[in-house]
Amino acid sequence: DTIPAEGAPVATSGSPEGKSEKGVRAEASRRRTFAVISHPDAGKSTLTEALALHAKVISEAGAVHGKAGRKSTVSDWMEMEKARGISVSSTALQFNYRSTEASADDPVDNVINLVDTPGHSDFSEDTYRVLTAVDAAVMLIDAAKGLEPQTLKLFQVCRHRGIPVITVINKWDRPGQTPLELLDEIQERIGLTPTPLYWPVGIAGDFRGLLRRGEDGAPREYIRFTRTAGGAKIAPEEVMDADAALAKEGSEWETAAEESELLSATGQDHDQELFLGGQTSPVIFASAMLNFGVRQILDTLVELAPPPRAREDVGGTPREVTDPFSAVVFKVQAGMDTAHRDRLAFMRIVSGVFERGIVVTHAQTGKPFTTKYAQTVFGRERSTVESAYPGDVVGLVNATALAPGHTLFFEKKVEFPPIPSFAPEHFSILRAESAGKYKQFRRAVDQLDSEGVVQILRNDLRGDASPVMAAVGPMQFEVVAARMKAEFNVEARMEPLGYALARRTDAESADELNRQRGVEVFTRSDGVMLALVSDKWRLQYIQKELPDLTLEPLVAAA
Ligand code: GDP
Repeated sequence: DTIPAEGAPVATSGSPEGKSEKGVRAEASRRRTFAVISHPDAGKSTLTEALALHAKVISEAGAVHGKAGRKSTVSDWMEMEKARGISVSSTALQFNYRSTEASADDPVDNVINLVDTPGHSDFSEDTYRVLTAVDAAVMLIDAAKGLEPQTLKLFQVCRHRGIPVITVINKWDRPGQTPLELLDEIQERIGLTPTPLYWPVGIAGDFRGLLRRGEDGAPREYIRFTRTAGGAKIAPEEVMDADAALAKEGSEWETAAEESELLSATGQDHDQELFLGGQTSPVIFASAMLNFGVRQILDTLVELAPPPRAREDVGGTPREVTDPFSAVVFKVQAGMDTAHRDRLAFMRIVSGVFERGIVVTHAQTGKPFTTKYAQTVFGRERSTVESAYPGDVVGLVNATALAPGHTLFFEKKVEFPPIPSFAPEHFSILRAESAGKYKQFRRAVDQLDSEGVVQILRNDLRGDASPVMAAVGPMQFEVVAARMKAEFNVEARMEPLGYALARRTDAESADELNRQRGVEVFTRSDGVMLALVSDKWRLQYIQKELPDLTLEPLVAAA
């Protein structure tokens, strides 16, 4: 299922198997790597399964169509996750999809990489890291609820990173707002111009089908859906022209056709450049549960979402997709399954061909790194990966040296910019319950710190035995406690620390700051000095009284 390299293999890319530049380019250009951003309950898991149902799942067909049936969700691994019903960890799902528009004489299968994002806002830092690994995002909105807080925050991350966004209005089978109200909300609250590609026929709660919009909003065709029992199968579609649609749906069709023309009158038509520039967003109405509109989402990804492109390194030089292999680690994950109690570092391939077994260089240490244990992960299932291309996500097993933001490369040196860490807002002292376990405790702290599970802060006053954890959300602390116990056999004790915010400072300011009430200076493991402050009024007071002290804001949490 790979496109054969044209002509004799030429080692121009320096890739291990000597795949031609043209071959790598072709592999990259048929790939689409994206994430779904949504508020919990908008239907992300349901949509993920519906997408997998519509596509040929390459890595682990069994994981979707297995005995467990449709409800075996893709991403509920950790005990904690199950207990809380939230998604803590993230993974990537890869499948083949042949777009409806693909011509018969050039039937190229696209390769879709769907990278899962954690649902809970406490893990927004993880979500941010995941979003550094994708080329596009699907913003999933509940038709009844409209834009919700988590959707808004995640959208801001996409905007900040220049990730083009496709909007999917989900649950159209249930009563909700009118389509025009929903579009207004998107336009007004986030300043993104929605440009519907398909328009619903039937109000929310009476989802009959989709009008496919053409030139000036005129209907290109009508796609009528039929329900299947429990939405367990691909919904049959009937495609017809406007006359047939009118005969079939009567006034529902007329309303849809009128509204579609109205949209064109207000300039809400798709424009590829504006979409890629983050100013507009193509819109699709769907019901993930009934599998309505899911094919249209996939077709839109294939037709409009950008394929993997060159990425700039720390010096601003682009690493072209045809350059030798390089990848960015965006997520380190552990304890996903009791059957594999290990650690996976997920990398997104930026350039070249990845072949399992090649020895690459870890840019941060300059050390060689063997990739013998490379896997793709889908839910609980894993399979060995033999080769992969730009846009693909590969998990490396027990790669303890790797942390989010790290670079791996082959032959031609490169280092990508680090992923910024967020401003922590929660702080807690961490101690081993029993002094006898100090060594394990130390090892656990170092490991979790390097993976970016929490930030670890230290100062001379508190010493090494009781470092301070800093996090965006308090649930990160629970992950630390759970993993310390499961992986390192250490019971940890935590004591909340009465600070509410952190500012970057320096050695010159440290002494003076430490003399202030409600302030304590720490050094983070990356060497950055942080002043923790009890509250914003205290901060304002200090900034006013002692304006020469360094107190710089950190990257705000998404
Ligand atoms: P997530 O938290 O975003 O992953 O949301 P889920 O996929 O778990 O869905 C949350 C709830 O909404 C579940 O009860 C789903 O069955 C339901 N749901 C998801 N999509 C649809 C849809 O298109 N229509 C309806 N009626 N319910 C849906």
